Amino acid sequence: MHPFTYTRAADTRDALDAGRRGGRYIAGGTTLVDLMRQTVEHPEALVDITGLPLREVGVTERGGLRIGALVSMAEAAARTRVRTLYPVVSEALELSASAQLRNMATLGGNIMQRTRCTYFRDVTADCNKREPGSGCAALHGHNRTHAILGTSDACVATHPSDVAVALAALEATVHLLGPDGERHVPFADFLLRPRSTPHREQSVRQGELITAVEIPALPRPLKSGYLKVRDRQSYEFALTSAAVALHVRGGVIRAAKVAAGGVGTVPWKLPAVEAHLIGERPSRQLWTTAAERAARGARPLAHNRFKVELLKRTVERQLSIVGGTK
Ligand code: SF4
Repeated sequence: MHPFTYTRAADTRDALDAGRRGGRYIAGGTTLVDLMRQTVEHPEALVDITGLPLREVGVTERGGLRIGALVSMAEAAARTRVRTLYPVVSEALELSASAQLRNMATLGGNIMQRTRCTYFRDVTADCNKREPGSGCAALHGHNRTHAILGTSDACVATHPSDVAVALAALEATVHLLGPDGERHVPFADFLLRPRSTPHREQSVRQGELITAVEIPALPRPLKSGYLKVRDRQSYEFALTSAAVALHVRGGVIRAAKVAAGGVGTVPWKLPAVEAHLIGERPSRQLWTTAAERAARGARPLAHNRFKVELLKRTVERQLSIVGGTK
């Protein structure tokens, strides 16, 4: 591990000052400390932000739900408002990592976490994300768990977060505070596809701090849930996953929010699936024809062609679970 300094921010202004000087924010530390130990990351200054007042969960004036960036994954999953208003968020959180990690890790840290591509964490391997211009060992290496959507010639790594898939489906907004003030970034713009700059993963500016995530108000009644398919039933990343929220009134689907995980370089919103559902009556046939649209544009690699079919089946199954016609 490289040498670094450690300070605890006394308040938000203190944190922003340190961030502006190049300090890296740390809260739960469940990703960053690992990466520092592996010498993948070597920040010179860590700024502990765990003392900041960013732990509230509450309904906004607009009727949405605001979750503070420092709320732990475990606490966010357990909060009654999250469980009752957006079960898809609770389920995605509870299917993530391990109990110990969920107790330590924060929501803000979760959406800032870096890829689990093994080559990224192996400092002897070529990796454009870790070392721009060095190449991508996964392209012609072992790429069974890698992405089939949103890839580029520079990087094919998946985004590892489960809750980010739920937030993408629900069209959440990330609240940021920086030297130039506050700004709100739609989740679709927050996480960046690799293109030719895979080392840039989030649209966060120097010194900016995530303060909260806001989930918008959605028409009620709303049924939602998260399905995760993985090689083992705990402490494992998704091969595929599906976050689904449906508003059905008068027997007709009036609103549909759908995104997939484990398949994209970012959580993969599925507008073609959503459009196919709206205005239709729930049925097994509808779930099948909608899910057929889930893998449009997929570019499988040598070892992950199975994800194309698995993605469709995951989306179909979760539509049937949430839509109620299993
Ligand atoms: Fe690095 Fe991305 Fe290639 Fe993995 S897939 S080796 S993270 S450039």
